Amino acid sequence: MFGKVLIANRGEIALRIQRACREMGIKTVVVHSTADADAKYVRLADESVCIGPASSTDSYLNIPAIISAAEVTDAEAIHPGYGFLSENADFSERVERSGFAFIGPRAESIRIMGDKVSAKKAMIEAGVPCVPGSDGALPEDPEEILAIARKIGYPVIIKASGGGGGRGMRVVRTESSLLNSVSMTKQEAQTAFGNPTVYMEKFLENPRHIEIQVLADSHGNAVYLGERDCSMQRRNQKVLEEAPAFGVDRALIDQVGERCVEACKRIGYRGAGTFEFLYENGQFYFIEMNTRIQVEHPVTEFVTGVDLVKEQIKIAFGEPLSIKQEDIKIKGHAIECRINAEDPFNFIPSPGKVTAWHTPGGPGVRFDSHVYAGYYVPPYYDSMIGKLITYGDTREIAIARMKIALSEMAVSGIKTNVPLHRQLMIDEKFRQGGFDIHYLEGRLEDLKNSQRSI
Ligand code: ADP
Repeated sequence: MFGKVLIANRGEIALRIQRACREMGIKTVVVHSTADADAKYVRLADESVCIGPASSTDSYLNIPAIISAAEVTDAEAIHPGYGFLSENADFSERVERSGFAFIGPRAESIRIMGDKVSAKKAMIEAGVPCVPGSDGALPEDPEEILAIARKIGYPVIIKASGGGGGRGMRVVRTESSLLNSVSMTKQEAQTAFGNPTVYMEKFLENPRHIEIQVLADSHGNAVYLGERDCSMQRRNQKVLEEAPAFGVDRALIDQVGERCVEACKRIGYRGAGTFEFLYENGQFYFIEMNTRIQVEHPVTEFVTGVDLVKEQIKIAFGEPLSIKQEDIKIKGHAIECRINAEDPFNFIPSPGKVTAWHTPGGPGVRFDSHVYAGYYVPPYYDSMIGKLITYGDTREIAIARMKIALSEMAVSGIKTNVPLHRQLMIDEKFRQGGFDIHYLEGRLEDLKNSQRSI
């Protein structure tokens, strides 16, 4: 196994990766910005290297500084976590060219999946169900564009091939606004992503977001580890996730899972990955693949008993998958609440010093966080400061445990979204299960209109 791994990330995921490494007897190097110099997980690492100032462009996105840190510390592999450089094909390539293992897929797979038109093409070839739409990029000819939309049927969505983070998309409901919307999306795509290619899909009105976790090794083996329902979202940002997805036919999930595995084998995918789908009227529609570990991976770990981060490391080392598809059984139910340093009602970030930090525990409770009393939440990065995950034999038990865990949680000095999660645990529609991706925004809107705070 690797002797030493460099963690090119920060916060809770840096700590999560560090824990996996320690369990495997691997030494860790944490790189950090000046803003994170005093963080406890930085001190806990075997070695740490400051790679730049607070701004992530100069630190966590600074490829030469990260590679130099790996060189001076004699690390053998680099784990990119999520966000930052995790889906940057150039980074993966430069890491490997410099003689280190990249704990993630080959650059080529990241490139295919990072471009939505090529990703969709690969999925169609593997028989993964996709949203009906234009066959690849939209043509230039206005008549052809109009004809494609007529065939798909309104509403349609115009999406940038190079888009990401919920940007570069436009919904079109009437033919009269189609051509103008296409040219606006193209212009925006050029400015934001340096690639004006756009494509068209049927716009699904009330879908759920359901994703499938996969693991693939470098020997041609791949497995799927069930699904996660991430429909509780605000502005395309996931707020709460769960596994399995409530009320979805297991036979259908197995069918789609097998197609995802097929797609991995066809593109020679290596590592952990997630196929994201919209789910509406009993059908799955692929939207994109994330070629990295996801924030919400712990819910899958709870229901499958597989440590996804350890598997990532073993795969990068070249080991064949130790688990077979028939070994993977979904058992029980898990829920994850993302804990953010923000106002729970207006969502304004709330960085600052944490003066008190009491965390929950008990059966079926996992809390992944790098925060402690006295920690200073820096204002420069994402506001997520932890993840509270509960598990139980049934969804009801997982919810009951989450409700208790949230009631035990006490934080002072900064605001968190814990009050929002407490409300969600008693929300009737949430408890019922099967809400769509617009549910939370609608609920927040209702509450604002009725002048009650959630
Ligand atoms: P990004 O890479 O920017 O996250 P995605 O393709 O994953 O883009 O889409 C982000 C979100 O946009 C989805 O979770 C969904 O809410 C919405 N969306 C994308 N495609 C469609 C579609 N065809 N119909 C309805 N909503 C869509």
